[in-house]
Amino acid sequence: MPKIYNFSAGPAILPADVLAMAQNELCDWHGSGMSVMEMSHRGSAFMSIAEKAENDLRQLMAIPDNYKVLFLQGGASSQFAMVPMNILAGNSTADYINTGAWSKKAIKEAKKYCSVNVAATSEAENFTTVPAQSEWTLNKDSAYVHFVSNETIGGVEFPFLPETGDVPLVADMSSTILSRPVDVAKYGIIYAGAQKNIGPAGLTVVIIRDDLIGSAPDNTPSMFNYKELSDNNSMLNTPPTFAWYLAGLVFDWLNTNGGLKAIADVNKRKSDKLYDAIDASGFYTSPVAVECRSWMNVPFTLANAELDKTFLTEAATAGLVSLKGHRSVGGMRASIYNAMPEAGIDALIQFMADFEKRNG
Ligand SMILES: *Cc1c(COP(=O)(O)O)cnc(C)c1O
Repeated sequence: MPKIYNFSAGPAILPADVLAMAQNELCDWHGSGMSVMEMSHRGSAFMSIAEKAENDLRQLMAIPDNYKVLFLQGGASSQFAMVPMNILAGNSTADYINTGAWSKKAIKEAKKYCSVNVAATSEAENFTTVPAQSEWTLNKDSAYVHFVSNETIGGVEFPFLPETGDVPLVADMSSTILSRPVDVAKYGIIYAGAQKNIGPAGLTVVIIRDDLIGSAPDNTPSMFNYKELSDNNSMLNTPPTFAWYLAGLVFDWLNTNGGLKAIADVNKRKSDKLYDAIDASGFYTSPVAVECRSWMNVPFTLANAELDKTFLTEAATAGLVSLKGHRSVGGMRASIYNAMPEAGIDALIQFMADFEKRNG
């Protein structure tokens, strides 16, 4: 297998140790004679896998007992609708902070269920920053406040925890969950599609405070109702068993390697290195305000956009793949999730310096 470093934004790189473990037990899980893919989700073998995954995630994130953890399908995109469907609780408005492409999608979906108050937006700054909380205009009648902790496309991460008093805080954490410790108790709901920093696509993790469960209208489809999903331990229907199992291996890998504090140190060091290299060069530019720069998704542009194609081709030849920026913003984007080894960052920095020397 050629040695490559995969900078894809998602589905994204998984820890090599986890893939090796999955390969090792692919055809025969723990002497059961079958693959996890072939097991009944209600059998004792899979139940033990599911429980261990949940317990390991609870340990990793120090999730308080009054929070439920749901392992769902439908992606983070389904949560854009499920959040208002379930927790408006008779209120007609919700606050949203607009910091980029994923915020906009969440807002668009919420508008089908309630009136959305965009309490703050950085659209005028082309989504290169996060509006300071002092500039927000929260509506005191809102059922909740929604924000996207890390805008995967723009590479903009909240540098502060929003303060919303008694109003539940809802976070789309798809591309930053597990990158550092968070105080779960400060949130009403945390949700994330798995394919960035948790595991394979097809699984969506929802962490929800239990008082927010149970107020969906009666005509809410069962599969979109947090109460029914929670009452059935995320097994109202067949869950994405293999993705759940693989996520469990990732949780175990993180716990074994020192938990979220340890990975946060690594992530900080990795991203600092890359931003320092960008800032030190006259050839590469980060469009994002320094204090909002993402630890996970690092967009950058070249001095001459006509060189983008050459950069990507030569990078791929050097084993550095999936560096193309999102089609909506152009340029480059290096996604450097937990599973990206530090050697991958070093290789990228070296390639960038070499490319600049030849083309700068
Ligand atoms: C990828 C992503 C989504 C969409 O996730 P799906 O699982 O594809 O629905 C939503 N929000 C953020 C922040 C993302 O990075």
